[in-house]
Amino acid sequence: MIGPFDFTGNPARIIFGAGSSGNIGDVVASLGCARALVLSTPHQSVDAGALAANLGDLAAGTFAGAAMHTPIDVTENAMQVVAETGADCTVALGGGSTTGLGKAIALRTDLPQIVIPTTYAGSEVTPILGQTEDGVKTTLKDPRVLPEVVVYDPELTYSLPAAMTVTSALNAMSHAVEALYAKDRNPMSSLMAAEGIRALVRALPAILETPGNAEARADALYGAWLCGSVLGAVGMALHHKLCHTLGGTFDLPHAETHSVILPHVVAFNAAAVPEQLRPLADALGVEKPGLGLFEYARSLGAPTTLKELGMPQDGIDRAADLAVANPYWNPRDIERPLIRRLIEKAYHGIEPAR
Ligand code: NAD
Repeated sequence: MIGPFDFTGNPARIIFGAGSSGNIGDVVASLGCARALVLSTPHQSVDAGALAANLGDLAAGTFAGAAMHTPIDVTENAMQVVAETGADCTVALGGGSTTGLGKAIALRTDLPQIVIPTTYAGSEVTPILGQTEDGVKTTLKDPRVLPEVVVYDPELTYSLPAAMTVTSALNAMSHAVEALYAKDRNPMSSLMAAEGIRALVRALPAILETPGNAEARADALYGAWLCGSVLGAVGMALHHKLCHTLGGTFDLPHAETHSVILPHVVAFNAAAVPEQLRPLADALGVEKPGLGLFEYARSLGAPTTLKELGMPQDGIDRAADLAVANPYWNPRDIERPLIRRLIEKAYHGIEPAR
């Protein structure tokens, strides 16, 4: 039976297609803006410069200092550039780090945002912003940080290295997986989550074979859009909380941590909600989605151990303590011995039960 449910869509204009990032000037003008500040990480500064050159008079300048987890001091430097250049909108070119900077500026100024994602993180379609100050990350949800326009150009993802392609896509998939069993899920989020998973599952092996496979790159970015959308629409559970805790406590890399943890959380929660995880099992063509995902990720060369990401072994107990000390909703009860075992398996890369 359908319902009851309570669904609010996150309003944004989505432009999708190979080559679509060639017309950003039209997008800037469509917002009634004329002075766009182009944002990027230092790594993508050349691309940001080229985009600004392409914008011509519509570019107010570039700021190529975006960094992981949106450090407040970087935002403050960028705010100075916003003021100096008189920017009236931002164009974030890059992954979740650059998107985060655009969101942090919008939170402080309400400047309209155009985002051109070049990874599969999905932040561009969520009203969520994580910021870091003195090493402490806090997350907020605010409609002001939701970007106005997202331009998905699959051609910009051809340069994403294989390892990042895989971990970024598994990070995206984790949003959809938790949306499948979210407490506040609705028919729209469930459709988007299942379709996002299918698109990513079929895209990754083809991309690894041919990184410039246009159809597979389009599939992956399409999947990332859907997965990001459900992250912004419904509540996340054990997987996201655990990754947040592990990442924050042990300074582990974001997408890689998601990649390692996801199969274990799926195996754990599948014991409680096998039917809700059926779209994942079907997409993978398996009966046991946790084990299936573990094998799928391994076949793509994804990291499988927290150990290789730099977590200390004595961190297993600390992480288990933190996970149970701060209870949150999950479809299966979170008991310390079980969570400790889950983290231990992820630490050593032990496969979920057959
Ligand atoms: P990232 O943005 O930090 O990118 C990693 C590196 O890859 C950077 O140096 C970047 O310049 C480079 N890069 C990006 N695209 C590339 C491409 N196509 N080719 C070559 N190099 C490329 O990594 P990410 O995983 O996209 O984002 C992680 C951040 O996003 C984290 O801070 C995370 O918390 C945040 N995030 C936020 C949300 C949200 O809703 N608020 C959602 C997902 C992730």
